[in-house]
Amino acid sequence: MTVRSTDLIHHPYEAPQGFRSVVPAVHKASTVIFPDTAALATTQWKDKSGYTYGLHGTPTTFTLEERLATLEGGHQALLAPSGLSALALVNQSLLRAGDEVLLPDNAYGPNKDVVRAELAHWGVRHAFYNPLDAADLAARITPATRLVWLEAAGSVTLEFPDLDGLLAVCRQHPRIVAALDNTWGAGLAFQPFELGLPDRHGSRGVDLTVHALTKYPSGGGDVLMGAVVTRDEALHHQLKMSHMRFGLGVSGNDAEFILKGLSSIHVRYAAHDAATRHVTAWLLQQTAFSQVLHPALPDAPGHAHWLRHCRSAAGLVSMVFEADDWPQSRVHAFVDRLRLFKIGYSWGGPMSLVMPYGLTGMRQFGALADHTGTLVRLSIGLEQPDDLIADLSQALALS
Ligand SMILES: *Cc1c(COP(=O)(O)O)cnc(C)c1O
Repeated sequence: MTVRSTDLIHHPYEAPQGFRSVVPAVHKASTVIFPDTAALATTQWKDKSGYTYGLHGTPTTFTLEERLATLEGGHQALLAPSGLSALALVNQSLLRAGDEVLLPDNAYGPNKDVVRAELAHWGVRHAFYNPLDAADLAARITPATRLVWLEAAGSVTLEFPDLDGLLAVCRQHPRIVAALDNTWGAGLAFQPFELGLPDRHGSRGVDLTVHALTKYPSGGGDVLMGAVVTRDEALHHQLKMSHMRFGLGVSGNDAEFILKGLSSIHVRYAAHDAATRHVTAWLLQQTAFSQVLHPALPDAPGHAHWLRHCRSAAGLVSMVFEADDWPQSRVHAFVDRLRLFKIGYSWGGPMSLVMPYGLTGMRQFGALADHTGTLVRLSIGLEQPDDLIADLSQALALS
C-alpha cells in the first residue's frame, strides 16, 4: 500500500481566502514559509509588515499586541511567557553593569528577587524607596540610577503611591526610565501614559508598563502571560531586540485565551471592583482585624492619590491581624476554615482566593514596618458577594 505522505504534507487544496468571524484566527508556527529567496531577504517582522519565524510573531500575537497597546493607552506592546518574565525582560534589557535600579518597598515580591538574586550578579545595584514619599525617591537617585519601578497599588499591602510626585522626580533625570507594573490597574483603573504634567518633550506618564495578563486579561486562572507596553518607538525597539535575543515567545493557543478574555475585561473588572467594595464594607464591621487595606477606604495609605487617579479599585483587599490576639496558627486556622475562598496565588479569575502573609520584615516604610502579625489577602472572584461574606463569617466565628 502506498502511503501518500507527500500529498498529505504538500496537499493541493487551499481553503478560500476571506474567512471572517467574531474571533481572530489562531495561527501557530515555528517555521514560517517564504515564497522565494527575494522575500527571505526583504521580509520585515520588526515593524509588523511581515512574518519570518514563530518567535518573531504571528497574526494572532500581532493582534493581541495591538489590542493590549490600546488597552493600556500605549503605542507598542511585546508579549512574554509570564508577567514575571516581562518584568525580567525590562530589567535585563535596560540595565548594564554599574547601573542602579530603584523599586518601591511594596513592589511585587518576585521582581525584588530578580534584582536581588540575578541583577546583583551582573553588577547592577538596587535600592528600595518609600512609594508614598516622592522626596524619599528623590533622595535615593544617584548618577547611576537608570530604571525606577512604580507599582499602583503596591503588592499585598495595597498602598497607593504618589504617582504624579514620583514621576515628577523621575522626569528631572532624562536618563531614567519610569516603568510601572500595571497589573492591578489593568489599563482600566487609570491611564498610565497620561499621568502628571508634560515634560519638556511634551510626553506625559510613565515610559513603559508591564502587565501580568495572567490576572484580569485572562480572567480565567488558566493562562500565564505578560506584556510590556510603550509609547516611545526607540524604547520599544530596544526591548524588542532583547526580547528576540532572549527567545521569549508565547503560544498561539494562550494568545487566543487572552484575546477572548480581553473583550470582557472591563465588565469583569467592574464586577470584581463592586463585589470587593461590598465585602470590604462588611470586613470593616468586624473586630478581628486591626486594619482593612483597600485603596478606596478614606484612611488607606495613599487614599488621596488613589482618589486623584482612579474611580475603580480592582478586586483585592487585605486584612491585618495583630500577633497578640491572632498568632499565626489562629490566622491559618481561619484561612483553613474558608470554603469558597481557595488558598492560592494569583488573582483576577472567577474563583475567590485567599493567601496569608507573615508581616515580619515585609516592609521597610509605613505603619506596617515593624509589624509582627499576619496579613490575609483576599482576591474577590465572581461569586455572589453575600455568599463570600457568609463564608468569611462562618470561618471567623469558628476561629
Ligand atoms: C502576578 C503578578 C505578576 C507576575 O505575573 P505572572 O504571570 O504570575 O508571572 C507581576 N506583577 C504583579 C503585580 C502581579 O500581581
